[in-house]
Order: sequence, then C-alpha cells, then structure tokens
Amino acid sequence: MGRVLIIGAGGVATVAAHKVAQNSDVFTDIMIASRTKSKCDAIVKAIGNPNIKTAKVDADNVPELVALFREFQPDLVMNLALPYQDLTIMDACLEYGCSYLDTANYEPKDEAHFEYSWQWAYRERFEKAGLTAILGCGFDPGVTSIYTAYAAKHHFKEIHYLDIVDCNAGDHHKAFATNFNPEINIREITQKGLYWENGKWVETEPLEIHKDLTYPNIGPRDSYLLHHEEIESLVINYPTIKRARFWMTFGQQYLKHLEVIQNIGMSRIDEIEYDAPLADDPTKTVKVKIVPLQFLKAVLPNPQDLGENYEGETSIGCRIRGIGNDGKEHTYYVYNNCSHRAAYEETGMQGVSYTTGVPACIGARMFMLGLWKKPGVHNVEEFDPDPFMEELNKQGLPWHEIHDGDLEL
Ligand code: NDP
Repeated sequence: MGRVLIIGAGGVATVAAHKVAQNSDVFTDIMIASRTKSKCDAIVKAIGNPNIKTAKVDADNVPELVALFREFQPDLVMNLALPYQDLTIMDACLEYGCSYLDTANYEPKDEAHFEYSWQWAYRERFEKAGLTAILGCGFDPGVTSIYTAYAAKHHFKEIHYLDIVDCNAGDHHKAFATNFNPEINIREITQKGLYWENGKWVETEPLEIHKDLTYPNIGPRDSYLLHHEEIESLVINYPTIKRARFWMTFGQQYLKHLEVIQNIGMSRIDEIEYDAPLADDPTKTVKVKIVPLQFLKAVLPNPQDLGENYEGETSIGCRIRGIGNDGKEHTYYVYNNCSHRAAYEETGMQGVSYTTGVPACIGARMFMLGLWKKPGVHNVEEFDPDPFMEELNKQGLPWHEIHDGDLEL
C-alpha cells in the first residue's frame, strides 16, 4: 500500500492513471506530473477523482524531480514519459530514495539506439540503497517477457526458440499515424533489424525479413522482423534459447508513407537550420534549428486522439518451442487480443496505449504488495510471473494458450 507518482501525461500515462485509480486498495495517494500540467489536470478530470494531485515537472532536470519527490514523497515513481528521461528519473529516485518502474529502455536523444547497458549500470546503486527498479513493464517489453517467464516456470525445461509476435489489426481511418509517440516509434522501426541465433546477434537491413503469420481472430498478416529490447534481457535470463526474434505487422500503406518520410529526410534526428520568417516582419528571416523528426511529430496525428474511431484489435504473444517438463519437444503460444474500442470506452485511449498502461499499473501493484520488491535493477522476467499473470486476467488483458499447435516459425 503506498504512494505512486506517474510521470508523463500521454496515451500510456492516461491509461495507467485510470487503472491506478481503479486499484485504490493498494494506491493510497496518486500524483500525475508532466511537462504540461494542463494535460495532467485533464486526465484527473476524465477519471473524476479530485484527490489525484497534479504537478508540472521537467523530467530532464534531476534537481526539479528531486524537489517534487521531496514534496509528494512517493514510494514508487512510474516513468511513463519518454525513454530519453529514464536515466534522469532513475538518478532522482536514488537521490530522494524511492523505487522506479518504466516501460521502455533508455535511448539517447541524438542517437537512434536503445540498449539496457545504461540502466543495468545502476544495479549496484539501487541494490545498496535498498530500492527496486522494474524495467520494461509495458506489453512488449513487459507482458511478453512475463509470458516467457511463465512458460519457463510451468511448461518448459528448456526454451529453445522464442518468437514474439505483435500484430495491430486495427484501423484508425487516418492515412498515416503512429500508435505511440511518433518520434520514438519511427526511430525504432527505421533501425536495422537484429535477432539472436546460436549465441550471437544477427543484423539485417531495416524490415528486410518478413513473412505472413496468422493471428488468432484476425488471420494472416505480413509480419516484419525488428530489433526489440526485451530480446536483449531474455536471452541472458534464459540461456537455453537458441534463437529469439521479434515480429511486428505493418500494412502496405504504412510502409509506403514510412519510405517517403525517410526518402525526403523527415526521419532525420540531427538538427538542421531553417530560415523562419520573423513574426513582426515576415520579409525578414531568422535562423532556427529544428530536428526534422520532431517537426514531423508536431504535424502527425496525436496517438492519443486515435481512439474514437479505432476499430479492430491488437494481438500480441509469444510463440515458444523447446523441451517440456516431460522431456519431449513441445510448442506453446500464449497471447492476448485487445479491442481498440473496448480500450477507448474504458479509458478514452486506443489499444496500444491500453496494452502498455495496464501492465505498468499491474507492475506497480506487484511492487506495492511487496510481491515484486527486490533491491536492484531488474527486467520484469526476473520476478515471479504468477501473480502478474493472474492480474492480467482481472485488469482487462486476459490471455489464452495454445499447446502443441503449429507456430509457423
Ligand atoms: P506520449 O508522447 O503520448 O507521452 C509522453 C509524455 O511524456 C507526454 O505527456 C510528454 O509531455 C511527457 N514528457 C516528455 N518529455 C518530458 C519531460 N522532459 N518532462 C516531463 N514530461 C515529459 O508517449 P506514449 O504515452 O505513447 O508513450 C509513453 C512511453 O511508453 C514511451 O516511453 C514509449 O516508448 C513507451 N511505450 C512502451 C510500450 C511497451 O509495450 N513497452 C508500447 C508503447 C509505448 P507533453 O505532453 O508536454 O509532450
């Protein structure tokens, strides 16, 4: 039972705040803090619980964060801002003395590159301080890692092949939009592909490998091999894995737009100079520095506004092959399907925000109940998956299993 501080007021934070408010048996005091306070106030209004506090904070600024933590005194900080803020928020948690949870690993702003090494470097400091850091507690990473832990605990002696499959079969009726922060999303998808095979990483060109995979209740969808962060920790925590890959579906229209965006330089993350007309004298210009991808984010649809007309569902799961507890080879597919409409009706957000915000809330619940309290910095598969899996069924993301089916992979 304790005090939780949510940082960020985007799609994921909105869902997590709704869920945290629904779990009032464990969250006694709630605060939402973000760069734009009015967005935090709007979330509180939508939830309809005036006891939730709000604040403005710049999460890139450690002293500002520490001052806020001293004022609110959280037991746990849920970082639902952007991956750029992971390290400053972790620093502030250490300085003040509270635990930490996030849904995406650290990424420097000036380099489209993510890996856990930066956050794993905090292990000793969190351990010594007796504080817990829970990394990657969204859906992927998050639930997919917990599915793998659950499979290892209950169904397999050795996991040999792991394929994480992520399908969004929804239609938001926009020509082009991303389902979460456009900047983070486009940086992720335009990277080279990477997968783990026989003890080493294999690199591919961006979106080079793809194949049709059949998703429950949806059917076949073209699925592309991407580099995804949970693979990095899973192959370390389950060393019997011979091959681990991540697949995500994309429609042709999405890919066409992405290609154009890249070809015209709008996915660039370096600063360019732009001659902006002066407001009081448009005949004169002033040199302004802009990052094309950040500018693109400003003109693309806001992922938070996609929910209203979003139809269809997501289907995310793990397809696993290995040696079962009976010593024979088995396959196992564990997945969740989430309806965009149902997510919107409950929280005002679409399914991708929902499938991330709900696990973040469940992870925070696990921490508050003392079930996931372990000094140090941990990826979610390092905790007991059972109480988390039980909560998924109760909190809106029920899961299903197929034993010994055709994995297609
Ligand atoms: P949004 O862009 O909608 O929201 C991000 C929020 O963070 C905004 O409210 C933004 O403020 C705030 N923010 C950004 N910078 C700062 C700062 N310096 N100080 C304070 N607040 C700041 O993103 P999403 O909600 O879509 O995604 C949130 C996180 O979830 C991301 O890290 C994303 O990578 C992750 N994610 C994880 C998934 C998973 O399955 N594990 C899936 C999808 C997303 P403002 O409103 O003022 O811009």
